[in-house]
Amino acid sequence: MRLFEAREKAERIRFRLDRATNLQADDTAVTEEASVKSSLRDLEIVPDLTPSLARVLAESHNRLEIPGHAVQAFVFSSSEVQASCTSKSLDKCVLKFSSALINLLSEEELSFVIGHELGHFLLQHGKTRPESQLVGEDLRMCRYQEISADRIGLLACKSFNIVVRTLMKLVSGLSSEYLTFDTEAFLRQMRDFHPDMPSTDSTTHPPTLIRTQALLWFSKCLSDSQPNTLPDSATMYELDVKVQKLLEPYISAWEDTERKNEQEAKRSLLLWLAAENVCEDGKLTSTEFGKLKTLLGGDKAKELQAYLRSLNARDVLSIIAEKKGKSIKRYEQVTGGKSSRQTLKDLRERVTQALQ
Ligand SMILES: [Zn+2]
Repeated sequence: MRLFEAREKAERIRFRLDRATNLQADDTAVTEEASVKSSLRDLEIVPDLTPSLARVLAESHNRLEIPGHAVQAFVFSSSEVQASCTSKSLDKCVLKFSSALINLLSEEELSFVIGHELGHFLLQHGKTRPESQLVGEDLRMCRYQEISADRIGLLACKSFNIVVRTLMKLVSGLSSEYLTFDTEAFLRQMRDFHPDMPSTDSTTHPPTLIRTQALLWFSKCLSDSQPNTLPDSATMYELDVKVQKLLEPYISAWEDTERKNEQEAKRSLLLWLAAENVCEDGKLTSTEFGKLKTLLGGDKAKELQAYLRSLNARDVLSIIAEKKGKSIKRYEQVTGGKSSRQTLKDLRERVTQALQ
């Protein structure tokens, strides 16, 4: 088994909008660090200590034709259902699974999750920006990457029914005892979910129902008699166009929400920077108030004036500083960790100009 052959195969089912990126060079050190850290803290999946997990892991990477030495996997103790793949290096990845995830899933279901994570490795998704620096465009790409990784997950577990079971468990956190695995009924929920529903959720994963539908279509492109034969490129193209149509309205809706949140955070930041500026000398003069109205709009300026008047003169500056700090944090939060430095500089200039 050779890794580059496994990669070639994976490339053939990469979702067409999930474009291979080359933002960073092969960074073996990051993967090594993850491996050392986990070795010290977590339990490594090995035949002697976790025989059934080691077997599922081996079966999964064998099915994907990934040599065993390229995969190291750990379990860590957590009540949250989580799985991750560190793959900054071309030839090795470190997988991590929470104990809650392992306890929730059967062996077959686990092989879907393992396959999904190995999909990120094969398609080199780890070589994009670190999560803390994601910007709008990257978030979109992350969602596309999930579609590709799911397909590799399906190849690892070999059955769409297992995928549905896994996704229903992951989305609900419930064990089989409480669930009926009815794909049709599960997908029907999607029709009740509209993309224009407000969502403040900036998660990198597309909603489970979209993932399920996209995988159902993909599974129909695979031949029952020859499950190892991948669909030809024309079939993949047709499938991807369909998935794109399904996904796009949701992504646009998320982006609208993200944009709105950003604008709102910016407005709040502008307000507190202006407040800071006008209160420097301890009072808000009527000339200043006139300029504030131009900068913030009449209603906002009046609101601010009333608020400042309600404060104890001694506390005004410290309260404004606190509010400004919170606005900066909020801005960084809604922009996915984007640095606020340039925005702060621009807004400050606007305030100085408007209020001079
Ligand atoms: Zn993923």
